[in-house]
Amino acid sequence: MASQDYYAILGVPRTATEKEIKSAFRKLARKYHPDVNPGDKSAEERFKEINEAYEVLSNPESRKKYDQYGQNWKHADQFEAARQAGQRASRTRGGRTVTFDFDDFVSSSGGGGAGFGDIFEQFFRSEPRRGGTAGRRTATRGQDIEHPVEISLEEAFNGTTRMLELTSEQTCPVCKGSGRSGGKPCPECFATGLVTKPKRIEVKIPPGVTTGSRVRIAGEGGAGLGGGPKGDLFLVISVRPHPLFERKGDDLYVDITVPLVDAVLGGEALVPTPKGTRLALKIPPETQNGRVIRLAGQGMPKLGGGGQRGDLYAKVNVQLPTNLTPAQRSLFEQLRASQVR
Ligand SMILES: [Zn+2]
Repeated sequence: MASQDYYAILGVPRTATEKEIKSAFRKLARKYHPDVNPGDKSAEERFKEINEAYEVLSNPESRKKYDQYGQNWKHADQFEAARQAGQRASRTRGGRTVTFDFDDFVSSSGGGGAGFGDIFEQFFRSEPRRGGTAGRRTATRGQDIEHPVEISLEEAFNGTTRMLELTSEQTCPVCKGSGRSGGKPCPECFATGLVTKPKRIEVKIPPGVTTGSRVRIAGEGGAGLGGGPKGDLFLVISVRPHPLFERKGDDLYVDITVPLVDAVLGGEALVPTPKGTRLALKIPPETQNGRVIRLAGQGMPKLGGGGQRGDLYAKVNVQLPTNLTPAQRSLFEQLRASQVR
């Protein structure tokens, strides 16, 4: 939805008059109205878009903001307030600090907000806190930060910790976040109210995470602006493939080798577990090659599942004997003669 252009949705040029906008809206609204297209989901979506576009463009005030700020037009008020406060901002993106003046991108944003959203996004990514902070309209929650973490299957099984080196945004100690010091823009933080500092934190990764799990570390994201709360840190987990275990959800699959005689007559096999231990598994007589035997509750812990675990599946690989002695060979010949199948 971020790249939606309300003018394109209504099929009118940016210079369209109010009348042209209204007429385009009516035409499209008739065409995509749910009553005319019962059960058509895409028509319904279009109808919603058309309405949204018309709502913004039919109001001269919101249209003007939209023209200037694009999709972020709703945040225009906060932006104006920040600009008037003469704030300068510096943010770290991918290890590189980008510093710019708010005025810099006001002047370059005339073309309907193209290329502007990204920078804007960094400042006003979240809705401001409403109420309670009268006069602090720029109060904005800090950014959420993602940090990739790779762990082993054993670590995913047991849970683990990591020491992370982060660049953390903190409230400026000189101006206490106000951006002004001694009646002047604060030199310590370039009037942003924020300073960046390296920071080491230990984070806990709970048992049961899998590739793609996001572990939230509350309040360790970017600092808020204008007294807003801090964002969160999200650890984005990837679990390395394991040489023995294949994981499907909370279940694990492992191959076990069973000698022919045990498969035929029954016996016992040892099954490795993600704990690092081995479990004795009863092999029933006449177990077929490829048979999968379930060990209930011996799989991965369920994330946040209070100790519940998935299952472990052992797949039997029957090992045929080699280097037979003459006596053994003769036994197989007797089996053949008895026409065992
Ligand atoms: Zn400062």
